[in-house]
Amino acid sequence: MSYDVVIVGAGFAGASAAYFLSNAGVKTLIIDVKGWDRVGDRPCGDAIGKHHFDELGLPYPKGHELEGYVKGIAIYSPSESSSILVNGEGFEVHRIKYVQRLLNEALGRGCEFLGNTHVRGPIVKDGYVVGVKLWSNGGAKEVYSKVVIDSSGNARSVVRYLPRSWPVNESLELRDANVAYREVRVLNHEIEEPEVLRIYVNNEISPGGYWWFFPYSLMRGYVNVGLGIRADLRGLHPKDLLYKYVLSRPEFKGSRIVEAGGALVPTRRPISSLVWNGIAVIGDAAYVVNPVHGGGKGSSMISAKCVAEAVVNALDNNDVSANGLWSANICYMRRYGCKQGALDIFRYFLQKLSNDDLEFSISKRLVSGDELNEISLRGRFEVGLVDKVVRLASLLTRPSLLIKLRNVVRYMDLIKDHYMNYPSRPEGLNEWVRKLGELINSYHGSLT
Ligand SMILES: Cc1cc2nc3c(=O)[nH]c(=O)nc-3n(C[C@H](O)[C@H](O)[C@H](O)COP(=O)(O)OP(=O)(O)OC[C@H]3O[C@@H](n4cnc5c(N)ncnc54)[C@H](O)[C@@H]3O)c2cc1C
Repeated sequence: MSYDVVIVGAGFAGASAAYFLSNAGVKTLIIDVKGWDRVGDRPCGDAIGKHHFDELGLPYPKGHELEGYVKGIAIYSPSESSSILVNGEGFEVHRIKYVQRLLNEALGRGCEFLGNTHVRGPIVKDGYVVGVKLWSNGGAKEVYSKVVIDSSGNARSVVRYLPRSWPVNESLELRDANVAYREVRVLNHEIEEPEVLRIYVNNEISPGGYWWFFPYSLMRGYVNVGLGIRADLRGLHPKDLLYKYVLSRPEFKGSRIVEAGGALVPTRRPISSLVWNGIAVIGDAAYVVNPVHGGGKGSSMISAKCVAEAVVNALDNNDVSANGLWSANICYMRRYGCKQGALDIFRYFLQKLSNDDLEFSISKRLVSGDELNEISLRGRFEVGLVDKVVRLASLLTRPSLLIKLRNVVRYMDLIKDHYMNYPSRPEGLNEWVRKLGELINSYHGSLT
């Protein structure tokens, strides 16, 4: 069997890639270890910003694919007595049904789907990935293609077997990840303002992360409630913390569990290259999750779009080398990676704030909801905002917070600029990665 492209993993990333590639008439096979009924299924808060669909030309979820509308997110202080509302439209999406919708459209344009099939690793020839080894119907098989896209999420089922010298095989350190657990529950009462998602920051309840309450506004009483913590905190488990501090509250009394589960979330900057010879990597497998809020569906779709466009070009030019596919990196790093890099630094800053500092920042409105939205969208504090925050913090006599804030803003700018200068060819990558490491180490050094 031979294809132009084989996609490994039919989650949000893989299904989006299949959608974009089939649109361009590329002969594609998409494989998943799950059967058709479960594609796209994984523990998730299911929230996604509307702007992603608009920017990428993807269809909005509709009918049974849509479980709720979102008009904003309220972020609560540790005492829960203050909050900031970040306005922004979005959806609560039915994971499986939306992924099936994308795949159905792709299948209608000639893409093929192979479910219940376990990909066991890449086939490498003369320094290129030329296909994958798989296990299907009790037998070992091989499938060949000009390009393989690894969208297998945390499993990284293809890239993890490639040589460590290939930049697509970059390992994940636990300090750069969250481990999150969530349940979907039906409450026995109405939820107030079901179109507002709620995020609660509190270092005792969810160290290095947050806990959330995301109602499904179109399904009366349904809520997605979960908790994430830094993955390197030994002896702590997000499920235990969720039960101890959250689900023990009166509003959950008598509620019914519909779904439960957890997973690792790579909350860091993206992998340093999404492509190499004959291979591309997208979604969680490429660490494209937003480091601060942990959302990864939108950025999975962005990485899929950038890679699909590069693959179409590379196939047209008959050059699937790292260089031939490189435009995927330029596209992704400019569009989202630069923001992820800056927000990765902001994450370190946030993870070190005490409950006292968090309470102060939220209750005194150091940053408004609109300003937070801007930081999240652009990965940068605009100059006017820096002045305002610094003025407020000094007026309110918080010198230590003021120094930390000035410092993080400076490093966020440096890192974002570094990503905007991402090398135009693979030859420049090693030097760029070296400088990025220097910047990150220098930020850590400045904290001690
Ligand atoms: C608790 C929790 C809450 C979250 N909440 C949100 C949220 O509200 N909003 C948001 O945007 N993001 C959220 N995220 C992150 C988001 O879920 C992920 O970033 C996103 O789903 C990643 O999609 P993906 O396609 O890259 O990976 P996945 O959805 O993990 O898909 C990978 C696919 O690859 C398949 N696969 C794996 N190995 C193999 C193999 N060897 N052979 C064949 N197939 C294979 C799997 O079966 C799977 O279908 C949350 C994550 C967690 C854990």
